[in-house]
Amino acid sequence: MAFIARAASSTFRVYSGDDAPQIDVVVDAGGRIDSILPCRPAEATSPHAPCVTPGLVDIQVNGFAGVDFNTATLPPATFESVLHELLACGVTRFLPTLITADEDDLVERLEALDRAIAASPLGQQMVMGYHVEGPFLSKQGGYSGCHPADAMKPASLATVERLLTGRRKPIRILTMAPEVPGVIELIPILRARGITCSIGHTAADAETIHRAVEAGATLSTHLGNGLPHQLAKNDNPLLAQLAEDGLFAGFIADGIHIPSAVLRTWLRAKTVRRSILTSDAAAAAGPNTPAGIYTIGEARIERSPDGVVRIPGSPYLAGSSVSMDQMVRNVMTWFDFGWDDVLRLCRVNPLHAIAETRTVPAIGDWADFIEWIDGENGPQIARVHFGPWIWNDTQRPNLQHGEQEKRP
Ligand SMILES: [Zn+2]
Repeated sequence: MAFIARAASSTFRVYSGDDAPQIDVVVDAGGRIDSILPCRPAEATSPHAPCVTPGLVDIQVNGFAGVDFNTATLPPATFESVLHELLACGVTRFLPTLITADEDDLVERLEALDRAIAASPLGQQMVMGYHVEGPFLSKQGGYSGCHPADAMKPASLATVERLLTGRRKPIRILTMAPEVPGVIELIPILRARGITCSIGHTAADAETIHRAVEAGATLSTHLGNGLPHQLAKNDNPLLAQLAEDGLFAGFIADGIHIPSAVLRTWLRAKTVRRSILTSDAAAAAGPNTPAGIYTIGEARIERSPDGVVRIPGSPYLAGSSVSMDQMVRNVMTWFDFGWDDVLRLCRVNPLHAIAETRTVPAIGDWADFIEWIDGENGPQIARVHFGPWIWNDTQRPNLQHGEQEKRP
Protein backbone atom coordinates (compact mmCIF):
# COMPACT_ATOMS: atom_id res chain seq x y z
CA MET A 1 0.00 0.00 0.00
CA ALA A 2 1.24 3.46 -0.81
CA PHE A 3 -0.16 6.74 0.40
CA ILE A 4 1.19 9.73 -1.44
CA ALA A 5 0.57 13.46 -1.33
CA ARG A 6 -1.26 15.05 -4.22
CA ALA A 7 1.09 17.17 -6.31
CA ALA A 8 -1.06 18.58 -9.12
CA SER A 9 -4.63 19.41 -10.00
CA SER A 10 -6.71 16.61 -11.53
CA THR A 11 -9.96 16.21 -13.43
CA PHE A 12 -12.30 13.32 -12.77
CA ARG A 13 -15.43 12.19 -14.56
CA VAL A 14 -17.45 11.03 -11.57
CA TYR A 15 -20.47 8.73 -11.57
CA SER A 16 -22.27 10.58 -8.83
CA GLY A 17 -25.28 8.38 -8.15
CA ASP A 18 -27.43 11.51 -8.14
CA ASP A 19 -29.92 12.91 -10.67
CA ALA A 20 -27.07 14.17 -12.87
CA PRO A 21 -25.40 10.77 -13.25
CA GLN A 22 -21.99 11.98 -14.38
CA ILE A 23 -20.11 15.14 -13.50
CA ASP A 24 -16.67 16.46 -14.39
CA VAL A 25 -14.88 17.49 -11.22
CA VAL A 26 -11.65 19.50 -11.07
CA VAL A 27 -9.61 19.01 -7.90
CA ASP A 28 -6.90 21.56 -7.07
CA ALA A 29 -3.38 20.65 -6.04
CA GLY A 30 -4.37 20.90 -2.37
CA GLY A 31 -7.06 18.24 -2.77
CA ARG A 32 -10.16 20.48 -2.73
CA ILE A 33 -12.86 20.56 -5.41
CA ASP A 34 -12.36 23.58 -7.63
CA SER A 35 -15.21 23.21 -10.12
CA ILE A 36 -18.01 20.83 -11.12
CA LEU A 37 -19.57 20.59 -14.57
CA PRO A 38 -22.45 18.33 -15.61
CA CYS A 39 -21.54 15.79 -18.24
CA ARG A 40 -23.65 15.70 -21.41
CA PRO A 41 -25.98 12.66 -21.46
CA ALA A 42 -24.46 11.47 -24.73
CA GLU A 43 -21.20 10.94 -22.90
CA ALA A 44 -22.72 8.79 -20.21
CA THR A 45 -21.27 5.27 -20.02
CA SER A 46 -22.71 1.91 -19.08
CA PRO A 47 -23.96 1.64 -15.50
CA HIS A 48 -21.63 -1.34 -14.99
CA ALA A 49 -18.42 -0.03 -16.59
CA PRO A 50 -15.43 0.76 -14.38
CA CYS A 51 -15.61 4.40 -13.40
CA VAL A 52 -14.85 6.98 -10.73
CA THR A 53 -17.35 7.17 -7.87
CA PRO A 54 -17.59 9.13 -4.65
CA GLY A 55 -16.24 7.33 -1.59
CA LEU A 56 -18.25 4.69 0.28
CA VAL A 57 -19.91 5.35 3.64
CA ASP A 58 -20.09 2.66 6.35
CA ILE A 59 -22.37 3.37 9.32
CA GLN A 60 -21.24 0.41 11.46
CA VAL A 61 -17.55 -0.29 11.99
CA ASN A 62 -16.67 -1.93 15.33
CA GLY A 63 -13.05 -2.31 14.34
CA PHE A 64 -10.95 -3.35 11.37
CA ALA A 65 -7.63 -4.84 10.40
CA GLY A 66 -6.87 -6.40 13.77
CA VAL A 67 -7.95 -3.35 15.81
CA ASP A 68 -11.00 -3.26 18.10
CA PHE A 69 -12.55 0.17 18.71
CA ASN A 70 -14.24 -1.18 21.87
CA THR A 71 -11.34 -0.39 24.15
CA ALA A 72 -10.28 2.40 26.51
CA THR A 73 -6.75 2.16 25.16
CA LEU A 74 -6.69 2.93 21.47
CA PRO A 75 -3.32 4.42 20.52
CA PRO A 76 -3.78 7.23 17.96
CA ALA A 77 -1.15 5.66 15.67
CA THR A 78 -3.08 2.38 15.69
CA PHE A 79 -6.30 4.19 14.85
CA GLU A 80 -4.52 6.00 12.01
CA SER A 81 -3.40 2.66 10.56
CA VAL A 82 -7.03 1.49 10.52
CA LEU A 83 -8.06 4.62 8.63
CA HIS A 84 -5.56 3.76 5.90
CA GLU A 85 -6.87 0.20 5.70
CA LEU A 86 -10.46 1.45 5.43
CA LEU A 87 -9.51 3.94 2.70
CA ALA A 88 -7.84 1.14 0.78
CA CYS A 89 -11.25 -0.61 0.80
CA GLY A 90 -13.01 2.51 -0.49
CA VAL A 91 -14.47 3.74 2.81
CA THR A 92 -13.93 7.49 3.08
CA ARG A 93 -16.56 8.22 5.78
CA PHE A 94 -17.68 5.98 8.60
CA LEU A 95 -19.11 5.71 12.08
CA PRO A 96 -16.86 3.94 14.61
CA THR A 97 -19.28 1.71 16.49
CA LEU A 98 -19.29 0.72 20.15
CA ILE A 99 -21.29 -2.24 21.41
CA THR A 100 -22.95 -2.60 24.81
CA ALA A 101 -20.73 -2.07 27.85
CA ASP A 102 -21.05 -0.64 31.35
CA GLU A 103 -21.67 3.09 31.20
CA ASP A 104 -18.22 3.97 32.60
CA ASP A 105 -16.55 1.72 30.03
CA LEU A 106 -18.55 3.25 27.19
CA VAL A 107 -17.50 6.74 28.28
CA GLU A 108 -13.84 5.70 28.43
CA ARG A 109 -14.05 4.06 25.00
CA LEU A 110 -15.64 7.13 23.45
CA GLU A 111 -12.94 9.28 25.05
CA ALA A 112 -10.23 7.03 23.58
CA LEU A 113 -11.80 7.35 20.12
CA ASP A 114 -12.13 11.11 20.58
CA ARG A 115 -8.41 11.38 21.41
CA ALA A 116 -7.40 9.24 18.45
CA ILE A 117 -9.57 11.27 16.08
CA ALA A 118 -8.27 14.58 17.42
CA ALA A 119 -4.71 13.44 16.68
CA SER A 120 -5.53 12.56 13.07
CA PRO A 121 -6.34 15.04 10.26
CA LEU A 122 -7.56 12.02 8.30
CA GLY A 123 -9.74 10.84 11.17
CA GLN A 124 -11.33 14.26 11.59
CA GLN A 125 -12.50 14.07 7.98
CA MET A 126 -13.41 10.38 7.81
CA VAL A 127 -15.28 10.01 11.12
CA MET A 128 -18.75 11.52 10.86
CA GLY A 129 -19.60 10.63 14.45
CA TYR A 130 -20.33 7.51 16.46
CA HIS A 131 -22.77 4.65 16.31
CA VAL A 132 -23.55 3.32 19.79
CA GLU A 133 -25.20 -0.12 19.65
CA GLY A 134 -26.70 -0.61 23.09
CA PRO A 135 -26.98 -0.73 26.02
CA PHE A 136 -30.83 -0.65 25.72
CA LEU A 137 -31.09 -4.01 23.93
CA SER A 138 -32.74 -7.41 24.38
CA LYS A 139 -30.98 -9.64 26.92
CA GLN A 140 -32.53 -12.79 25.46
CA GLY A 141 -30.13 -15.39 24.11
CA GLY A 142 -29.90 -15.28 20.32
CA TYR A 143 -30.96 -11.62 20.27
CA SER A 144 -28.10 -10.26 22.36
CA GLY A 145 -25.38 -11.68 20.10
CA CYS A 146 -21.91 -10.92 21.44
CA HIS A 147 -23.18 -8.00 23.57
CA PRO A 148 -22.77 -8.54 27.33
CA ALA A 149 -26.33 -8.98 28.65
CA ASP A 150 -25.27 -7.95 32.15
CA ALA A 151 -24.53 -4.43 30.90
CA MET A 152 -27.93 -4.01 29.23
CA LYS A 153 -30.52 -1.89 31.05
CA PRO A 154 -33.74 0.11 30.65
CA ALA A 155 -33.47 3.21 28.48
CA SER A 156 -32.12 6.25 30.28
CA LEU A 157 -31.74 9.78 28.94
CA ALA A 158 -29.15 10.41 31.66
CA THR A 159 -26.98 7.61 30.24
CA VAL A 160 -27.20 9.01 26.72
CA GLU A 161 -26.42 12.52 27.96
CA ARG A 162 -23.36 11.22 29.76
CA LEU A 163 -22.17 9.53 26.57
CA LEU A 164 -22.77 12.71 24.55
CA THR A 165 -21.21 15.20 26.93
CA GLY A 166 -17.81 16.55 25.99
CA ARG A 167 -17.51 14.53 22.78
CA ARG A 168 -15.50 15.95 19.91
CA LYS A 169 -17.73 14.01 17.50
CA PRO A 170 -21.50 13.53 17.89
CA ILE A 171 -23.36 10.28 18.39
CA ARG A 172 -25.15 9.86 15.04
CA ILE A 173 -26.91 6.51 15.59
CA LEU A 174 -28.17 4.81 18.74
CA THR A 175 -29.34 1.22 18.24
CA MET A 176 -32.06 0.16 20.67
CA ALA A 177 -34.63 -2.59 21.20
CA PRO A 178 -38.09 -0.95 21.32
CA GLU A 179 -39.49 -3.46 23.84
CA VAL A 180 -36.93 -2.39 26.46
CA PRO A 181 -38.65 -0.13 29.01
CA GLY A 182 -38.28 3.56 28.18
CA VAL A 183 -37.01 3.16 24.61
CA ILE A 184 -40.22 4.29 22.84
CA GLU A 185 -40.35 7.38 25.07
CA LEU A 186 -36.66 8.14 24.46
CA ILE A 187 -36.87 7.98 20.65
CA PRO A 188 -38.49 11.41 20.00
CA ILE A 189 -36.12 13.08 22.48
CA LEU A 190 -33.04 11.70 20.74
CA ARG A 191 -34.44 12.40 17.31
CA ALA A 192 -34.98 16.04 18.27
CA ARG A 193 -31.27 16.14 19.11
CA GLY A 194 -30.31 14.87 15.67
CA ILE A 195 -29.59 11.26 16.67
CA THR A 196 -30.88 8.56 14.34
CA CYS A 197 -32.79 5.96 16.36
CA SER A 198 -32.20 2.48 14.99
CA ILE A 199 -33.86 -0.82 15.86
CA GLY A 200 -31.65 -3.84 16.53
CA HIS A 201 -31.01 -6.81 18.80
CA THR A 202 -34.75 -6.79 19.43
CA ALA A 203 -37.36 -9.43 20.23
CA ALA A 204 -40.19 -6.91 19.80
CA ASP A 205 -43.51 -7.85 18.21
CA ALA A 206 -44.87 -6.07 15.14
CA GLU A 207 -47.02 -3.67 17.14
CA THR A 208 -44.07 -2.52 19.29
CA ILE A 209 -41.88 -2.05 16.24
CA HIS A 210 -44.63 0.00 14.61
CA ARG A 211 -44.88 2.16 17.73
CA ALA A 212 -41.11 2.74 17.56
CA VAL A 213 -41.45 3.89 13.95
CA GLU A 214 -44.31 6.20 14.88
CA ALA A 215 -42.14 7.60 17.68
CA GLY A 216 -39.39 8.39 15.16
CA ALA A 217 -37.16 5.34 14.62
CA THR A 218 -35.90 5.38 11.03
CA LEU A 219 -33.38 2.57 10.70
CA SER A 220 -32.88 -1.17 11.28
CA THR A 221 -29.39 -2.16 12.39
CA HIS A 222 -27.95 -5.16 10.44
CA LEU A 223 -31.46 -6.44 9.73
CA GLY A 224 -31.71 -10.23 9.80
CA ASN A 225 -28.92 -10.54 12.39
CA GLY A 226 -28.99 -10.21 16.15
CA LEU A 227 -31.74 -12.85 15.93
CA PRO A 228 -32.05 -16.49 17.03
CA HIS A 229 -31.83 -19.12 14.32
CA GLN A 230 -35.43 -20.25 15.04
CA LEU A 231 -38.23 -17.68 14.81
CA ALA A 232 -42.03 -17.78 14.79
CA LYS A 233 -43.16 -18.07 11.17
CA ASN A 234 -45.19 -14.88 10.95
CA ASP A 235 -44.80 -12.91 14.15
CA ASN A 236 -41.12 -12.03 14.32
CA PRO A 237 -39.10 -8.81 14.45
CA LEU A 238 -37.46 -9.43 11.08
CA LEU A 239 -40.67 -9.53 9.04
CA ALA A 240 -42.13 -6.69 11.10
CA GLN A 241 -39.17 -4.45 10.21
CA LEU A 242 -39.16 -5.49 6.55
CA ALA A 243 -42.78 -4.34 6.38
CA GLU A 244 -42.10 -0.88 7.84
CA ASP A 245 -41.54 1.60 5.00
CA GLY A 246 -40.41 4.23 7.50
CA LEU A 247 -37.24 2.26 8.22
CA PHE A 248 -34.02 2.16 6.26
CA ALA A 249 -32.38 -1.23 6.74
CA GLY A 250 -28.70 -2.04 7.00
CA PHE A 251 -27.70 -5.39 5.50
CA ILE A 252 -24.38 -7.23 5.85
CA ALA A 253 -23.83 -8.40 2.26
CA ASP A 254 -20.99 -10.80 3.02
CA GLY A 255 -22.76 -13.97 1.90
CA ILE A 256 -22.25 -15.35 5.43
CA HIS A 257 -24.65 -13.38 7.62
CA ILE A 258 -27.23 -13.43 4.83
CA PRO A 259 -27.06 -15.94 1.95
CA SER A 260 -27.39 -14.15 -1.39
CA ALA A 261 -30.83 -15.61 -2.19
CA VAL A 262 -32.13 -14.41 1.17
CA LEU A 263 -30.61 -10.96 0.67
CA ARG A 264 -32.25 -10.76 -2.76
CA THR A 265 -35.62 -11.43 -1.13
CA TRP A 266 -35.10 -8.87 1.62
CA LEU A 267 -33.87 -6.24 -0.85
CA ARG A 268 -37.05 -6.77 -2.83
CA ALA A 269 -39.12 -6.28 0.32
CA LYS A 270 -37.22 -3.22 1.48
CA THR A 271 -36.29 -1.96 -2.03
CA VAL A 272 -32.94 -0.40 -2.91
CA ARG A 273 -34.38 3.02 -1.95
CA ARG A 274 -34.51 1.97 1.71
CA SER A 275 -31.53 -0.39 1.91
CA ILE A 276 -27.97 0.16 3.09
CA LEU A 277 -24.92 -2.07 2.92
CA THR A 278 -22.98 -2.01 6.14
CA SER A 279 -20.01 -4.15 7.05
CA ASP A 280 -20.55 -4.44 10.83
CA ALA A 281 -16.82 -5.03 10.59
CA ALA A 282 -14.97 -6.19 13.68
CA ALA A 283 -11.26 -6.36 14.44
CA ALA A 284 -11.24 -9.63 12.51
CA ALA A 285 -12.26 -7.83 9.30
CA GLY A 286 -10.22 -6.77 6.32
CA PRO A 287 -8.72 -8.39 3.24
CA ASN A 288 -5.28 -8.78 4.87
CA THR A 289 -6.41 -9.82 8.35
CA PRO A 290 -5.47 -13.43 9.17
CA ALA A 291 -7.65 -16.09 10.78
CA GLY A 292 -7.39 -16.16 14.58
CA ILE A 293 -8.76 -14.81 17.84
CA TYR A 294 -9.70 -11.13 18.18
CA THR A 295 -11.85 -9.14 20.60
CA ILE A 296 -14.97 -7.00 20.50
CA GLY A 297 -15.04 -5.34 23.90
CA GLU A 298 -14.75 -8.09 26.52
CA ALA A 299 -15.88 -10.78 24.11
CA ARG A 300 -13.46 -13.01 22.25
CA ILE A 301 -14.30 -13.63 18.61
CA GLU A 302 -12.73 -16.03 16.18
CA ARG A 303 -12.17 -15.56 12.47
CA SER A 304 -11.97 -18.91 10.72
CA PRO A 305 -10.01 -19.37 7.49
CA ASP A 306 -13.21 -19.07 5.43
CA GLY A 307 -13.84 -15.57 6.85
CA VAL A 308 -16.67 -16.48 9.24
CA VAL A 309 -16.45 -14.61 12.58
CA ARG A 310 -18.08 -16.34 15.56
CA ILE A 311 -18.15 -16.34 19.31
CA PRO A 312 -15.75 -19.30 19.84
CA GLY A 313 -17.59 -22.54 20.53
CA SER A 314 -21.00 -21.16 19.55
CA PRO A 315 -22.98 -20.91 16.31
CA TYR A 316 -23.43 -17.15 16.82
CA LEU A 317 -21.86 -14.73 14.37
CA ALA A 318 -20.08 -11.78 15.94
CA GLY A 319 -19.39 -8.95 13.55
CA SER A 320 -18.14 -9.62 10.05
CA SER A 321 -14.81 -9.93 8.30
CA VAL A 322 -15.98 -8.27 5.10
CA SER A 323 -14.84 -4.99 3.54
CA MET A 324 -17.10 -2.50 1.75
CA ASP A 325 -15.45 -2.96 -1.65
CA GLN A 326 -16.05 -6.72 -1.38
CA MET A 327 -19.74 -6.08 -0.66
CA VAL A 328 -19.87 -3.88 -3.78
CA ARG A 329 -18.48 -6.79 -5.83
CA ASN A 330 -20.91 -9.17 -4.14
CA VAL A 331 -24.09 -7.27 -5.03
CA MET A 332 -22.86 -6.48 -8.55
CA THR A 333 -22.16 -10.19 -9.10
CA TRP A 334 -25.18 -11.66 -7.31
CA PHE A 335 -27.83 -9.20 -8.50
CA ASP A 336 -26.28 -7.56 -11.57
CA PHE A 337 -26.55 -4.21 -9.81
CA GLY A 338 -25.06 -1.18 -11.57
CA TRP A 339 -23.39 1.84 -10.00
CA ASP A 340 -26.73 3.60 -9.46
CA ASP A 341 -27.83 0.87 -7.06
CA VAL A 342 -24.39 0.46 -5.50
CA LEU A 343 -24.06 4.17 -4.74
CA ARG A 344 -27.54 4.27 -3.30
CA LEU A 345 -26.72 1.31 -1.01
CA CYS A 346 -23.22 2.38 -0.05
CA ARG A 347 -23.30 6.18 -0.04
CA VAL A 348 -26.61 7.96 -0.62
CA ASN A 349 -28.80 5.93 1.74
CA PRO A 350 -26.27 5.69 4.58
CA LEU A 351 -25.89 9.48 4.45
CA HIS A 352 -29.65 10.01 4.35
CA ALA A 353 -30.06 7.60 7.27
CA ILE A 354 -28.00 9.93 9.44
CA ALA A 355 -29.86 12.99 8.11
CA GLU A 356 -27.09 14.18 5.80
CA THR A 357 -28.94 15.74 2.88
CA ARG A 358 -25.94 16.38 0.62
CA THR A 359 -24.59 13.22 -0.98
CA VAL A 360 -22.73 14.62 -4.00
CA PRO A 361 -19.39 16.41 -3.51
CA ALA A 362 -19.55 20.21 -3.74
CA ILE A 363 -17.08 22.97 -4.59
CA GLY A 364 -14.68 23.53 -1.68
CA ASP A 365 -15.07 19.95 -0.34
CA TRP A 366 -12.17 17.56 -0.04
CA ALA A 367 -11.74 15.27 -3.04
CA ASP A 368 -13.50 12.03 -2.09
CA PHE A 369 -13.29 9.69 -5.06
CA ILE A 370 -12.55 6.07 -5.89
CA GLU A 371 -11.09 4.94 -9.20
CA TRP A 372 -12.44 1.48 -10.01
CA ILE A 373 -10.97 -0.84 -12.62
CA ASP A 374 -12.07 -4.20 -13.94
CA GLY A 375 -10.92 -7.09 -11.78
CA GLU A 376 -11.32 -10.84 -11.95
CA ASN A 377 -14.37 -10.85 -9.67
CA GLY A 378 -15.82 -7.44 -10.39
CA PRO A 379 -14.62 -3.88 -9.90
CA GLN A 380 -11.36 -3.43 -8.00
CA ILE A 381 -10.10 -0.24 -6.42
CA ALA A 382 -7.11 1.22 -8.24
CA ARG A 383 -6.86 4.51 -6.39
CA VAL A 384 -8.62 6.43 -3.68
CA HIS A 385 -8.40 10.22 -3.72
CA PHE A 386 -9.12 11.79 -0.37
CA GLY A 387 -8.28 15.45 0.17
CA PRO A 388 -4.54 16.04 -0.14
CA TRP A 389 -3.73 12.31 -0.33
CA ILE A 390 -3.90 9.59 -2.94
CA TRP A 391 -3.92 5.96 -1.93
CA ASN A 392 -2.41 4.10 -4.84
CA ASP A 393 -2.53 0.34 -5.15
CA THR A 394 0.86 -0.35 -6.63
CA GLN A 395 -0.08 -4.01 -6.97
CA ARG A 396 -2.50 -3.10 -9.73
CA PRO A 397 -0.66 -1.08 -12.36
CA ASN A 398 -3.48 -1.13 -14.92
CA LEU A 399 -4.82 2.35 -14.09
CA GLN A 400 -7.33 3.13 -16.78
CA HIS A 401 -8.01 6.55 -15.35
CA GLY A 402 -4.40 7.43 -14.67
CA GLU A 403 -4.06 9.69 -17.66
CA GLN A 404 -6.82 11.95 -16.35
CA GLU A 405 -4.50 13.16 -13.63
CA LYS A 406 -2.15 14.77 -16.10
CA ARG A 407 -4.90 16.93 -17.54
CA PRO A 408 -4.66 20.58 -16.47
ZN1 LIG B 1 -25.17 -5.93 16.43
